[in-house]
Amino acid sequence: MGNDMKKSYLFSFWLAALPLLSRAQTSPAPATLLHPAAVFDGETLHPGWAVLVEGEKITAAGPAAQVKVPAGTRTLELPGLTLLPGLIEGHSHLLLHPYNETSWDDQVLKEPLALRVARATVSAQKTLLAGFTTSRDLGTEGAGYADVGLKQAINEGIIPGPRLLVATRALVATGSYGPRLAAVENLPQGAQEADGVDGIVRAVREQIGHGADVIKVYADYRWGVNNAAEPTFSLEELTLIVQTARSAGRGVVAHASTAEGMRRAVLAGVETIEHGDGGTPEVFRLMKQRGVALCPTVAATDATSQYRGWKKGQDPEPARVTAKRQALAAARQAGVALAMGGDVGVFPHGDNAREMELLVHDYGLPPLEVLREATSGNARIFHLADRGRVAPGLLADLVAVAGDPTQQVEALRQVRLVMKGGVLYKQP
Ligand SMILES: [Zn+2]
Repeated sequence: MGNDMKKSYLFSFWLAALPLLSRAQTSPAPATLLHPAAVFDGETLHPGWAVLVEGEKITAAGPAAQVKVPAGTRTLELPGLTLLPGLIEGHSHLLLHPYNETSWDDQVLKEPLALRVARATVSAQKTLLAGFTTSRDLGTEGAGYADVGLKQAINEGIIPGPRLLVATRALVATGSYGPRLAAVENLPQGAQEADGVDGIVRAVREQIGHGADVIKVYADYRWGVNNAAEPTFSLEELTLIVQTARSAGRGVVAHASTAEGMRRAVLAGVETIEHGDGGTPEVFRLMKQRGVALCPTVAATDATSQYRGWKKGQDPEPARVTAKRQALAAARQAGVALAMGGDVGVFPHGDNAREMELLVHDYGLPPLEVLREATSGNARIFHLADRGRVAPGLLADLVAVAGDPTQQVEALRQVRLVMKGGVLYKQP
């Protein structure tokens, strides 16, 4: 090591040590008491509760008169507001933007990576300020491992955004995905192609090595005759994907909209099925048996149907919306757990509440049920034991909205306060 190198090594060591020193020298952040009209704790509404936050965690929650506060606590009065756990988006693509702005093909083929990442930083901020403090981001769609870098930038406090669970590139069977142009060979693809024993094991491990928190696989896609959706991977391939991911502590989620694609994915051991439009009562019974959740993404179906010309409220309902309605009814009939996720990116980031509004208004779910799905439910399904509820010891990821979202889902559009890890990003 030369002298100059030694100096710069010492200098960078000193820089790395600085944050530790300054943290030790400053006194801990004062405790904050949040005093709203009511607290939704992830399960039920508690009028008159208050919540104490110290550092990045919730340290007490209960009837306001019973919460003991340390000396020097500052109180944030939140009259008329309901405090709830930070919402958890179950299905986003931060690296995509709405298809009525730019087609998916053009985003994948023509947009420079830097443009996509720059836009994604803004989308991350919009997501957080809409009250979504966590998002499961299910594939970069041709933007490589950019989601891993975004997550790092958020965690290091460089840009505001939700806590991310990232899927990186996602896995597709060769030839099944897109973009597709019959005359052009070797087009860049929106996900990583992998087949057979060797290819699949290697691809899963590559994605894990690059930072994937979860593995996403396309169990079927529109690659059939006349673009019909057909299964892609064999049951053996899907099983190998799940086994390889699981041995590294990762779960697998499957895009699937055909009954056979869903059946194979469920038998292989995936944790959630995304979309599920063609699910039959038998498949949903199998999901219930195996403890697999459905993330129905009704907002994506609603948005793409409108992009294709459906005038909602005037035209008859398109067949794909009817199919979604029947599938969701069958899933609920079978007792399948629902994950709340809209496939946001197909529609604008920050508009995440659209999925919850549609579930209530178009699909008849009670607001309380939808709110549980987006908080304690998603936390359970995604193995996030440190969030999704308001309880001592959990992360202080909290949102306050005007009104009562357990009665009126529209209240979720009236976000007045956003806290993540005890840090306020928005306040009245
Ligand atoms: Zn998606």
